[in-house]
Amino acid sequence: MVDLVNQYKRIKPEIDSAIQAVIESGQFILGKTVSEFENNAAKYLGVRHAIGCASGTDALQVALMALDIKDGDEVITTSFTFVATVETIVLLGAKPVYVDIEPDTFNIDPTKIEKAITEKTKAIIPVHLYGHPVDMDPVLEIAKKYNLYVIEDSAQAMGANYKNKKVASIGDIGCISFFPSKNLGAYGDAGMITTNSDELAEKIRMIIVHGSKTRYYHELLGVNSRLDAIQAAILNVKLKYLDEWNNLRNDFAKVYNQLLNSELIKIPIIKPYAKHIFHQYTIRVNRRDELSEFLKNKNIPHAIYYPIPLHQQNAYKHLSPVNLSLPETEKAAREVISLPMHTELTFEMQKYIADAINTFFKNSN
Ligand SMILES: *Cc1c(COP(=O)(O)O)cnc(C)c1O
Repeated sequence: MVDLVNQYKRIKPEIDSAIQAVIESGQFILGKTVSEFENNAAKYLGVRHAIGCASGTDALQVALMALDIKDGDEVITTSFTFVATVETIVLLGAKPVYVDIEPDTFNIDPTKIEKAITEKTKAIIPVHLYGHPVDMDPVLEIAKKYNLYVIEDSAQAMGANYKNKKVASIGDIGCISFFPSKNLGAYGDAGMITTNSDELAEKIRMIIVHGSKTRYYHELLGVNSRLDAIQAAILNVKLKYLDEWNNLRNDFAKVYNQLLNSELIKIPIIKPYAKHIFHQYTIRVNRRDELSEFLKNKNIPHAIYYPIPLHQQNAYKHLSPVNLSLPETEKAAREVISLPMHTELTFEMQKYIADAINTFFKNSN
């Protein structure tokens, strides 16, 4: 699905010397290298504050903590996302309230949010799934009308634009993951929290170091979630290539679009308001599980994000009404399949993959 080793080989001298410099500096957690990356990321995203932390999951948890989300609160989000979006809500004692998705973008359907709001609703977490931005204007409008916070789960969308803004710079707080396979990937766990609010930024900077501004004086309940300097050094090098790599992914998506038989396979769409960064290239098909088996037998990598929506997961289903029905979410979970998408793809690989998929459908229809 990804090829991080060959990507590394292309930038090896730069990466190696950046890592070496951190080791020689003796400063491994926070410090100058982390600040440098935070400044570069803030500039890139067009946001006032970008604060490094230990993972995308922590970014979500710290964002919720900074907004005082707690026991009894409700947070509106999507059930068609990586578990971390909801796990962090539940960890803080709040309740996830799911809104169905748009069948074409797989993102939260803004027209269905208002109906899910109650007196307990405190925040909305739109997830820019697969690297395609959520339609943010209607989300912001609803949030303003009901006085709700907006946390953008931008874990899959570093570099994507909504209209002329980068995602993670639009809501009250943005959360980014630098998990190695994300579009901007570290060589270990890493994440980032973004905001335009000076007040929230100050609070977030305290929360990630045990709730303190002055060491051993604890003003807030906090966590230990700091960005490693080695990861920041790697990310500083890779950030320079991010736009180039995201454009490459867009080119590869166009190649898949042309090669795949679009009468039998629903290829991804891009909304007029979006710059898609194709974290995943995800198609929709009938008989998805049979296709997956077929590809597996041919040793063609592929993945299903996500086979079971969160409201149906054992760990979370008790938190939703038993009769909760999210038809578009449930249908997507049965039909999606993601194809290899990374910076090291070649036309030959894409042709091989697309031919195999086309053959599967031609022979079986
Ligand atoms: C990857 C991801 C996360 C979590 O990021 P980690 O860095 O792996 O903790 C959260 N939300 C979404 C949508 C993700 O894809």
